[in-house]
Amino acid sequence: KSEAMDALVNLAKRRGLVYPSSEIYGGLRAAWDYGPLGVELKANVKRQWWRAMVQEREDTVGLDSSVILSREIWEASGHVKEFVDPLTECQACHKRFRADHLIEGYEAKHGREPEEGLAAIACPNCGAKHSLTEPRMFNGLLRTYLGPVQDEKGLTYLRPETAQGIFTNYKNVEQSARRKVPFGIGQIGKSFRNEITPGNFIFRTREFEQMEMEYFVRPGSDEDWHQYWIDNRFQWYSDLGINKDNLRLYEHPQEKLSHYSKRTVDIEYRFNFQGSEWGELEGVANRTDYDLRTHSEISGADLSFFDQENDERYIPYVIEPSAGVDRAVLTFMLDAYNVDEAPNAKGKMEKRAVMRMDPRLSPVKAAVLPLSRNTDLSPKARDLAARLRKRWNVEFDDAGAIGRRYRRQDEIGTPFCITVDFDTLEDDAVTVRERDTMSQERVSLDQVERYLIERMPG
Ligand code: ATP
Repeated sequence: KSEAMDALVNLAKRRGLVYPSSEIYGGLRAAWDYGPLGVELKANVKRQWWRAMVQEREDTVGLDSSVILSREIWEASGHVKEFVDPLTECQACHKRFRADHLIEGYEAKHGREPEEGLAAIACPNCGAKHSLTEPRMFNGLLRTYLGPVQDEKGLTYLRPETAQGIFTNYKNVEQSARRKVPFGIGQIGKSFRNEITPGNFIFRTREFEQMEMEYFVRPGSDEDWHQYWIDNRFQWYSDLGINKDNLRLYEHPQEKLSHYSKRTVDIEYRFNFQGSEWGELEGVANRTDYDLRTHSEISGADLSFFDQENDERYIPYVIEPSAGVDRAVLTFMLDAYNVDEAPNAKGKMEKRAVMRMDPRLSPVKAAVLPLSRNTDLSPKARDLAARLRKRWNVEFDDAGAIGRRYRRQDEIGTPFCITVDFDTLEDDAVTVRERDTMSQERVSLDQVERYLIERMPG
């Protein structure tokens, strides 16, 4: 499957899904840019999350808070003090690594802790033995300075999670949207972490996007709600086509929980990275009342909820399903990527790369292909494409052999190819080819929209 990863990185660049960032200046290992197709795919992933988490639910609402927040928020939240990672450096090649990641990798491979600690682990970059230094703590917050003078007064942080913008707006939302616990606030946006070992394509970058829900519940009901969200979020990936055999839940051991968490369960995907089979896709944490309580105490604002029916006041507990947009995009691409066989122009079977992706996520929903570049066929095909574009992202392509054009659409996961041929001029009908089965059906021109609507949920 890491071959699949290489093929995917290659395809992503060639087809305009994801490019290495700053490439003309030699590239920036930790950053990637989404191209014309990537931006569509990413928007579709976010749209599906927003639909399922905000739009279709009665008990949730949305928010879009700032990236740069008051510095005091990060002091109160514990990030300035606790958002630190143990860092080790190889004395031979001077590469730096997260010590906890190296130890976890060792444990996964050997089924036990390394008795001599880091001394038992060879440098993952140059292979040198006994070369890793004792870990030093390193804060992962990205700093920036506001105002004309770059001094301590102007120091602020780019948010490492979107969650704090939700907590600090808790009262605003509760009151303006007239909400009663239990209710949730969802948000999608960029987050920044000064990661020491970015890599594995878009899996770990320093700038990334998150889709987070903070769901506020009555203390005592938190454990049930936590389980509810773990199951709900697992199902979301599976409903959007991820093979369940490649998904699993990982329960964080008690001693490794974040400073705010009572229990955390990750949804993991089988990425098959070198050295680690499984990787975190989303974390679902029970953050207790840690955040609202601390912000209440430090800011002096009252972030409690008054339950009128039971005549009691409490600080709500928070259940947080926190997903990465980029990791979800990677997962949807990787899981959908397949190589099967299709007949070529002469009827001989040939290998074809195909992205068997849920049509709701596909960057292009349909391609309109005149059989050949022709003064009669092309205008008809262009008209049809223009009509379909009112509703979907649609490509028009009249360059090259029809089989090659099908392949181009298959590898980016386009669910339907619509061919306009010489019969179209007689019968006002087109041939619609389905991506996975490659079956073809003749559909009357005025029925194409309805045909696609029936086969593609919104
Ligand atoms: P990891 O252990 O992989 O560093 P984490 O446990 O620090 O992840 P969380 O703080 O739980 O991650 O963040 C929630 C989600 O945000 C993650 O499940 C992941 O999808 C996404 N995420 C976190 N850090 C990154 C990153 N550097 N690049 C891309 N996505 C990220």
